Amino acid sequence: MITVIGSLNYDLVTFSPRCPRAGETLQGEQLEEHLGGKGLNEAIATARLSVAKGHVRMWGNVGDDEHGKKMIAALTEANVDTGLVRVLPGVRSGSATIIVETESGENRIIIIPGANGELNPSDEQLAANFKDSQPGDFVVLQNEFPGVRKAIEWLHANKPDLSVVYNPSPVRDDLLDLELLNKVAYLVVNEGEAEQITGRSGREKDLLAALHQLLPRPTLIITLGARGCIFQSGETVERVAGVKVRNVVDTTGAGDTFLGAVVSQLYFGADLARAVEFATAAAAVVIQRKGAAESIPEYSRVALRN
Ligand code: ADP
Repeated sequence: MITVIGSLNYDLVTFSPRCPRAGETLQGEQLEEHLGGKGLNEAIATARLSVAKGHVRMWGNVGDDEHGKKMIAALTEANVDTGLVRVLPGVRSGSATIIVETESGENRIIIIPGANGELNPSDEQLAANFKDSQPGDFVVLQNEFPGVRKAIEWLHANKPDLSVVYNPSPVRDDLLDLELLNKVAYLVVNEGEAEQITGRSGREKDLLAALHQLLPRPTLIITLGARGCIFQSGETVERVAGVKVRNVVDTTGAGDTFLGAVVSQLYFGADLARAVEFATAAAAVVIQRKGAAESIPEYSRVALRN
């Protein structure tokens, strides 16, 4: 089983030529609604990109509102088990209000954690939810809920046979803790996150070496946007070039799709190099469509091209 613990957000995206000034009312161009949150994106990516269905479950919270219902329905449609998604009475689902300034392409985002802000797994809940876990199972985590540290520490202490995959995004100062990061099996970061963890920038290979020196335990993957990624397992360093995409529409969710694809491949027995190649191909599909969760392709669509 692959368990994704994390956030579910409802994204409201307003497109406008520019942002209004304080006190100003503007007419925009378009309103879009998308499902998001790194947890939901990663769960849908892992499920859709798995060779077999029925191996992914999501652990998270939504509010008792229409958005929560839509998010649960979308997970179910993607074959993600939602038995551990709690509907919190009197609480709103997490949301992201996004203004895209179409003249500049810049966006401004305000996240309200809502129900995600109450995802604080206790020892008892962790023990109950992982009581039937098997060696070889995977757990995927990111930083959009408060109980991340607790979950990583508990899994490390109590379930050493599980592979914990951690994407420390968005970066939180309280979680930039080398001891904590060394407790996971796989660390997947983008270039900016790698720079923040190591406190240095420079050539990709040097960045990876610096990260490996600080974090000898995890298998490390640094994603490099259009340039692809570089990764290290033990002393082996490899690189996979990005797919050349002529029409990049929206890169939201590229990292989450990449992560889900890597996990689904590893879980079903692929080696790391194969997993990363598949993930690179999957992420290249997502960026050619608007939105995140909605644009994640099925396994067969990516596998056929590879
Ligand atoms: P994040 O979205 O977390 O910042 P990246 O921007 O590094 O992560 O993207 C993750 C992966 O998505 C990359 O490793 C690459 O495979 C793919 N990707 C992202 N942007 C592009 C692009 N412009 N062209 C081709 N592939 C891309």
